[in-house]
Amino acid sequence: MERTLDIIPVSQWGFFDERIPPLVIAGPCSAESELQMMMTAKGLASFGIHVFRAGIWKPRTHPGSFEGVGTKGLKWLQKVKQEFGMKVCTEVACEKHVFECIKYGVDMVWIGARTTANPFLVQEIADALQDTDIPVLVKNPVNPDLDLWIGALERLGRAGLRKLGVIHRGFSTTERLPYRNAPGWQLAVELRTRYPDVPFFVDPSHMGGAREHLLPLSQRAMDLGLEGLMIESHCDPSCALSDAGQQILPEDLKVLLESLTVRRKDTDDKEYNENIEQLRARIDVIDENLLDALRSRMEVSRKIGQFKKSHNIAIVQASRWDSLLAGMIRRGAEYGLSESFVTAVFTAIHEASVDEQNKILGGQ
Ligand code: PEP
Ligand code: MN
Repeated sequence: MERTLDIIPVSQWGFFDERIPPLVIAGPCSAESELQMMMTAKGLASFGIHVFRAGIWKPRTHPGSFEGVGTKGLKWLQKVKQEFGMKVCTEVACEKHVFECIKYGVDMVWIGARTTANPFLVQEIADALQDTDIPVLVKNPVNPDLDLWIGALERLGRAGLRKLGVIHRGFSTTERLPYRNAPGWQLAVELRTRYPDVPFFVDPSHMGGAREHLLPLSQRAMDLGLEGLMIESHCDPSCALSDAGQQILPEDLKVLLESLTVRRKDTDDKEYNENIEQLRARIDVIDENLLDALRSRMEVSRKIGQFKKSHNIAIVQASRWDSLLAGMIRRGAEYGLSESFVTAVFTAIHEASVDEQNKILGGQ
């Protein structure tokens, strides 16, 4: 069942200057000292960053690593607000954090990836935020579970919160990747498609885990039409107490943002609109043909099923399937289609076909 979320558009939050996309949240991974916070905020404010982030309570893998400065950091966030007129935000992971944030006037909070994966904690946070006007951004859960991510948004929605957004920071994986977390862009696209009104931020810092990945991942977010970025920035990145390898100087963030190509959502350019319509019409015809071809293929497959049944032959002949797939991968490569794409398509077709034949053989 598709559930709706009642969202107040991000343009009405009074946080971001939408005339200069993308929407940017920047600041250190962790609040470390008053000086570090003020220096970083000063650098960011100097080129128009309006929303400042800093982790006050840090979820760390090992006990004994730097776990955040705690409540005293909230005073530094207040100072950033006063001195630079920025909105400030931090991560909350339990109701105590929420109450502390309310007490110190934190403007926005986010729920971290480890917390989103825990519905008890999300519910506790939602209950604590009830009756407030504080925007909440929900990071994806560490595991690639779209429903768990959406469930967290629903819990907040049910608590009456309407300034909601999401942050995509990638997923834990056992695959060997150049990134700290697997981007899993298809889940982001699926979420955007299902909930187009929910403001969407990408966090290339935690996704990439290294400075060199920040620009390409940020550009990818822009190419997908995702409007926001949360990027870690520190006045002295290499000395940071957490995530030193992925933070950048405010001036480097300025350069990064200037080198992004921000895609428009639409245009009134006549030539573009005419061409895109024609191309889409062609795609529609091709898709219909694909569907027709699949129907014909399935008809033949059913006939094969009948034939196998009357001769008492097993449905799957592995060698036939292996050679069929290998042939398709070879031809696909000639057409510039990747092995993974061809494999995924033909595996789905083959599975559906086997299911149909199973029905025929199971008929008696
Ligand atoms: C963070 O933003 O500081 C953080 C801990 O991120 P995540 O929850 O994505 O790991
Ligand atoms: Mn971090």
